Amino acid sequence: MKKPVIEFRNYSFKYKAQVQPTLQDINLTIYEGEKVVIVGPTGSGKSTIAHCINGLVPFSYQGEVTGSLKIMGEEAKSLDIFSLSKMVGTVLQDPDGQFIGLTVGEEIAFALENDCTEHAEMVSLVADVAEMVEMKEHLQSSIHHLSGGQKQRVSVAGVMVDKVDILLFDEPLANLDPATGKYAIELIDRIQKETNTTVVMIE
Ligand code: ADP
Ligand code: MG
Repeated sequence: MKKPVIEFRNYSFKYKAQVQPTLQDINLTIYEGEKVVIVGPTGSGKSTIAHCINGLVPFSYQGEVTGSLKIMGEEAKSLDIFSLSKMVGTVLQDPDGQFIGLTVGEEIAFALENDCTEHAEMVSLVADVAEMVEMKEHLQSSIHHLSGGQKQRVSVAGVMVDKVDILLFDEPLANLDPATGKYAIELIDRIQKETNTTVVMIE
């Protein structure tokens, strides 16, 4: 039987600033290697669900949580944000705010540098994930010179280099033209199949 990686049980969340809960009695199980798309109108709470999965709720966005959410079998509230970041990699709609380095290679390496990875191993890991997202030819390029689709792929590489179990996208297609969007979906499908990473997409 497949392993559950995300389990919401009678889960509700109310932002501190809200009177009513934004998420009410969510029951949802997502299994290892699945690709799940969460759809809903603007304001329906999709990004809030993403914040719960990656730990921004309740660590950055405060409020009241009831019920249970397990990530990789562990109760999310008992995990710290660092442990969660090793399990869940989030790719934002507009990844510009996530970038800090100068080149594509440095950007991808950033997650590893935090772990004190040895230099030779780092170079090889960065090359591997850059190849996975078809950005190996751009390792020396400045991040600011890339297209939106390329920046998104660097962002995917930056989380995949940490060998996350869950890849989480909040509206990955919002800033891409249709052809680039189609390419992004094909690439995500391929990564999911190659690595058995669980993919959660919000659209
Ligand atoms: P979606 O991503 O589906 O558009 P969101 O999860 O961003 O929806 O927002 C759902 C609801 O939660 C909205 O009504 C919004 O007002 C409320 N909300 C979102 N972020 C916060 C916050 N930081 N504090 C208080 N309320 C919030
Ligand atoms: Mg949203």
